[in-house]
Amino acid sequence: RSGDLSFPSFRKEGCTQCKRCTVECPFGAINEDEKRYPLFNESRCRRCGTCMGACPVRVISFENYSVDTVGQQIKAVDVPEEFDEKPRILVLACENDAYPALDMAAMNGATYSAFVRIVPVRCLGSVNTIWITDALNGGYDAVMLMGCQKGDNYQCHFVKGSEMAHYRMSKIGDTLQQLQLETERVATYEIAITDGERAAALINEMAETIERIGLSPFKF
Ligand code: SF4
Ligand code: SF4
Repeated sequence: RSGDLSFPSFRKEGCTQCKRCTVECPFGAINEDEKRYPLFNESRCRRCGTCMGACPVRVISFENYSVDTVGQQIKAVDVPEEFDEKPRILVLACENDAYPALDMAAMNGATYSAFVRIVPVRCLGSVNTIWITDALNGGYDAVMLMGCQKGDNYQCHFVKGSEMAHYRMSKIGDTLQQLQLETERVATYEIAITDGERAAALINEMAETIERIGLSPFKF
């Protein structure tokens, strides 16, 4: 996101005034206007994108970072078909720690499954669950979310973005059930910048899991 100095904006016509953005913003940067719509306070906003990840109707976006731009990246990946017998694993990696950790691991010679595709995200808090359901519906075999440490000793650059992502993902089980998919296909991890080798090993573990439980039925 280098160079992206835009602040979040929202499409008022689509807003349901649910207040998820206000509740999840780690910096208390969203107030209400006189008609009870969100009012973004740019002097407090750190541009983490957690509000974008939280919005159930996906009306919050930045100039060059939105549910649609990342969704397009996910859709642009070639997903092998059933007869190719190759899995496709999506990793959504926080650009602050997990993504550089994987980069460093590769530079240090660590190897991980060639079936993985990594998409960097601004903060795990900005991950909207539609990316996960769209990926699974599109035939990805697994989705891994890698973000910073949450909780009291948090290392999340945006305080509770990672925690919010974990909270949302704790509810992804219902979606998986509706899709009749195994819960192992979606997992969330805490990865520090020094955890490159561990992150690589987790990817390999997920590849083994897919080998064990089989390719996604959505390929067939
Ligand atoms: S981008 Fe982050 S800090 Fe700014 S309003 Fe959204 S959640 Fe709050
Ligand atoms: S989360 Fe989305 S729909 Fe809900 S109040 Fe915020 S902008 Fe409106």
